[in-house]
Amino acid sequence: MKKHNFSAGPSILPRSVIEQASNGILNINNSNLSLIEISHRSKDFVEIMDRATTLALNLLNLNNKGYKALFLQGGASLQFLMTAYNLLENKAGYINTGAWSTKALKEAKNLGDAIEVATSKDANFNYIPKNYSLDSDLDYLHITTNNTIFGTQFHELPKTNTNLICDMSSDIFSRNIDFSKFSLIYAGAQKNMGPAGTTLVIVKEEILGKVSRAIPSMLDYKVHIDKDSMFNTPPVFAVYTSMLTLEWLTKNGGIKAIEDKNIEKANLLYNEIDSNDLFNGFAKKEDRSLMNVTFNLNDQDHKEHFDRLCLEANISGVNGHRSVGGYRASIYNALDISSVKVLIEVMNQLNKLV
Ligand SMILES: *Cc1c(COP(=O)(O)O)cnc(C)c1O
Repeated sequence: MKKHNFSAGPSILPRSVIEQASNGILNINNSNLSLIEISHRSKDFVEIMDRATTLALNLLNLNNKGYKALFLQGGASLQFLMTAYNLLENKAGYINTGAWSTKALKEAKNLGDAIEVATSKDANFNYIPKNYSLDSDLDYLHITTNNTIFGTQFHELPKTNTNLICDMSSDIFSRNIDFSKFSLIYAGAQKNMGPAGTTLVIVKEEILGKVSRAIPSMLDYKVHIDKDSMFNTPPVFAVYTSMLTLEWLTKNGGIKAIEDKNIEKANLLYNEIDSNDLFNGFAKKEDRSLMNVTFNLNDQDHKEHFDRLCLEANISGVNGHRSVGGYRASIYNALDISSVKVLIEVMNQLNKLV
């Protein structure tokens, strides 16, 4: 039975990608060897890494603009530290819009002067702060473009002259923005790109090499750039599967085409939340995420009933995060609109039954 997979992460990938990835595990490029038993220095894998980084830069329209793409390990969580290690010299600013940016700020504070420029903590992070002033002497400003847990998203980027650094784990490759506004973008693969185990880092080379501290090799972007993401053995399966997803995205019209679909899916679902008197949305309307839709029942007495209807409709992964409660429907790139329609139908059904 087909499941409608709304999991927040690890999350849905295109079925064709999962099938291709499975084939690669059995037999990569008709070599009669498995992807996971060949050298990462072999021609087969070096080509995979090259293709993955090239596809990533092409999709973001950052080719030949001074950026490098890296596939690293340690998740987005290691990037909280690594960004500060490589870029924080005097002072860094953080816009705190949720659990992930709180963690990013904490890591940076361990290393130097990292300040919270603005936060929406006063309202359990249900909005994106808009009125704040930025010191002129920041090494960088760090934001989290999409807040996976709370279901908010920056629809306008902060205006700043300093380096804009961003955790784009849950909305990379989902919408068409001017990616050249960023000096560094990082994203754990497991939300919109591949399995857990690799993190995509896109970095403008000219911003590196400016801090005075000694950087451990594994945490030094320059080391990874010099070694084409192969300073140590890369997570070959996660990189291969990410490459397949980026191919799928490219074949299907790239970011502009997927953005249109994502907007259509999100509009349908938010319209239902707003028009169905049993439900209310969590995030402020103007800051609603196109990827993670957070909502709740007005009356918790209907919870058991709604959960059962979801189960019967093969809907999976809609439980909200414990810090928000209620429901969260993650509608990442690979989720088809038909799954969104099934969820909406169940919400409608509940309304008719109670
Ligand atoms: C999931 C997520 C993370 C954590 O990623 P890890 O790869 O588990 O470290 C960080 N930031 C955002 C925005 C996320 O959605």
